[in-house]
Amino acid sequence: MTSLVIQTAFLGDVVLTTPLLEALAQRYGPVDVVTTPAAAPLLETHPAVRRVIPYDKRAKDGGLGPLLRLARTLRAERYEAAYLPHRSLRTAALAWLARIPKRVGFRDGWPMLYTEVRQRATTDHEIDRLLTLAAAAGGVRPQRPSLLLTSSDRTVTEQFLREHGVGEPFVALAPGSIWGSKRWPHYDAVAERLADRAAIVVVGGPEDAALGQQVVKAVTDHGGARRAANACGRLTLRQSAEVIRRAAVLVTNDSAPLHFAQAVGTPTVAIFGSTVPAFGFGPRGPHDRVVQLDGLPCRPCSAHGPPRCPLGHHLCMKSLSVEDVLLAIEETGALHRRN
Ligand code: SF4
Repeated sequence: MTSLVIQTAFLGDVVLTTPLLEALAQRYGPVDVVTTPAAAPLLETHPAVRRVIPYDKRAKDGGLGPLLRLARTLRAERYEAAYLPHRSLRTAALAWLARIPKRVGFRDGWPMLYTEVRQRATTDHEIDRLLTLAAAAGGVRPQRPSLLLTSSDRTVTEQFLREHGVGEPFVALAPGSIWGSKRWPHYDAVAERLADRAAIVVVGGPEDAALGQQVVKAVTDHGGARRAANACGRLTLRQSAEVIRRAAVLVTNDSAPLHFAQAVGTPTVAIFGSTVPAFGFGPRGPHDRVVQLDGLPCRPCSAHGPPRCPLGHHLCMKSLSVEDVLLAIEETGALHRRN
């Protein structure tokens, strides 16, 4: 009988849940997943997923009525088990209202609504924590997230890069983040310094388009043969993942593109400010590097990173120099491997 996973957190969290989906699918067959409409395309092609059920909890499906309607729909599917990586009350209530007999979640969620409770280790990587939900599933425990990109994703991405004159090697930059305190402010300067060695492609959503434009301007203002493209809001999530897959290296904040890069195996320079890799969301590849300011007493200042620096100075990010990031890119060896 099919299992259900309910994961309606942010995009990065959904990508980090893919090893759990794989582990469950290995044992029980492909799973159904309730997720946000934004994240749905990331899972629709995934081999561990039978069906994606979009749940727009922040807009059209907000409130009790849509929650009860979805619970009725899920109840009709007669799922045997629900796995609940997200600690939200809504997620726990949905599985309970759907009367799914086995509901597996974490102790720091809503254990009174679960039938099996797992301890979330604070020291592990998030991938390993989520895999504890499938503790009894056995089999191989995947260490990396995974995404399945289609030939159409490849074709569209290739066309986009060709139209912008971007050949390989190129460096992908992801300057955005929902949380303002997690944005490093010098992507334009690092792009300007890299542009003699590689083309630049900026990835992100429509909300990052202005940041992307700033980076492109920093590169092209110098003229010559320098190439830069702003893909923010121009490509879908899977096409953006394809850009990252083709890149020699990705430079990113602690945000979803970091996990995309882990899924597609691209070396990553991850810049951490108000959060720290010890929270369990850092990169794990052998060539990956983290850039962060050690010894700043206020750091980390929250689990997600606040919208703005509560102290006003934002030293955790502003103190990280362009040279720090360039050095980390060198240490990945990525530009040398592709040259
Ligand atoms: S309080 Fe410290 S860690 Fe938090 S955003 Fe400000 S400088 Fe960064």
